[in-house]
Amino acid sequence: MSVQNPNIDPVKLDRLAEAMVRVGLNLQPGQNLMLTASTEALPLVRRIAVHAYKAGAGLVTPIFSDDEMTVARFENARDEAFDVAPDWIYKGMGEAFAENTARMAIGGGDPMLLSGFDADKVARANRANSAAYRPALEKITGFEINWSLTAYPGLAWAKLVFPDLSPDEAQRTLAEAIFAATRVTEADPVAAWAAHNAALLERRKWLNGHDFAALHFTGPGTDLTVGLADTHAWKGGISHAKNGVSCNPNLPTEEVFTTPHAARVDGYVSATKPLSHNGTLIDGIRVTFKDGAITEAHATKGEAVLQKLIDTDPGARRLGEVALVPHSSPISASGLLFYNTLFDENAACHIALGQCYADCFTDKNLTPEQIRERGGNSSLIHVDWMIGSGQVDIDGVTKDGNRVAVFRKGEWA
Ligand code: ZN
Ligand code: ZN
Repeated sequence: MSVQNPNIDPVKLDRLAEAMVRVGLNLQPGQNLMLTASTEALPLVRRIAVHAYKAGAGLVTPIFSDDEMTVARFENARDEAFDVAPDWIYKGMGEAFAENTARMAIGGGDPMLLSGFDADKVARANRANSAAYRPALEKITGFEINWSLTAYPGLAWAKLVFPDLSPDEAQRTLAEAIFAATRVTEADPVAAWAAHNAALLERRKWLNGHDFAALHFTGPGTDLTVGLADTHAWKGGISHAKNGVSCNPNLPTEEVFTTPHAARVDGYVSATKPLSHNGTLIDGIRVTFKDGAITEAHATKGEAVLQKLIDTDPGARRLGEVALVPHSSPISASGLLFYNTLFDENAACHIALGQCYADCFTDKNLTPEQIRERGGNSSLIHVDWMIGSGQVDIDGVTKDGNRVAVFRKGEWA
């Protein structure tokens, strides 16, 4: 296996590795690091190890997945094997987090890898994995430790994003798009992230100051009121983990986001971009909410997958996140559909079906019951989909019923 990929600029790849360690994780001297990645991302993972040890890491432990091995499973495994998940790995992750191990994830595999396989087997495998992962994932989403997610420009993913380019050219172009979105093309990426985080913090402060009861979205095919959870807090950019470390959980990130009230969402909404979910493209989504729950869901393409998704569990047809991203954000301006939530969710305002973030409340360390009482949703899924565009307006509705302009024609008002 070669150390370098000739399609990917090694200098910028190294800067991405450094940015992930210094900005993404803000890894502390003596802290251990556990990271997950695909075997294809090995050139990035090796540079991350270098920068992590330079930053004083205790031990860097990678856990790799491999697309060919995943395909081998779906082609050859016996039927019962699709309800199996490696609980022991997730228990180990939970123990590692309890010992203050930082967590990094590298995405970028083939978004369509499982598209040709039996949807029922894929759904069962996902459900088994989500259930096993849940205790460890709650420690991550609850920010017990500092964590960060980015992506490596995998070849299959690149070919999907740039179908008209040669495979080499596609990978080169996707790599450059990732480097631009993660700001490692700037002269000083660490300083660029500090400035960007400060700008996001200003937006959060403004929204938290208003403490809106609801946001009202209007646009083509959309008239949706999203009630916000009681004592909700707006987050985005820097997160302060409970282990005392401030990290940037997503590189890139352009959003500020909070927790909607699971019982106070009403109206209808049309997606403004297709949603790539488990290898299926769901396009032309139009959904109606009543008292927080989806009562009707349609899609011009992939409707059966959408129906399966919202039938995962009772929380899967309610909202767990609402996020604001201006239409002029760099990722939106690129005009690309990345087929990858980490990038696409930073191109437009979005909502997510399913699990809420325990961190998006003004008070810390809430129990699951307290989160539910405040309106926070609970589910095995968390699926973001885009509802923003240059034609969407958003009003904030205050607790006494007044309206404040938040977005006009897709930009901060
Ligand atoms: Zn989001
Ligand atoms: Zn989300």
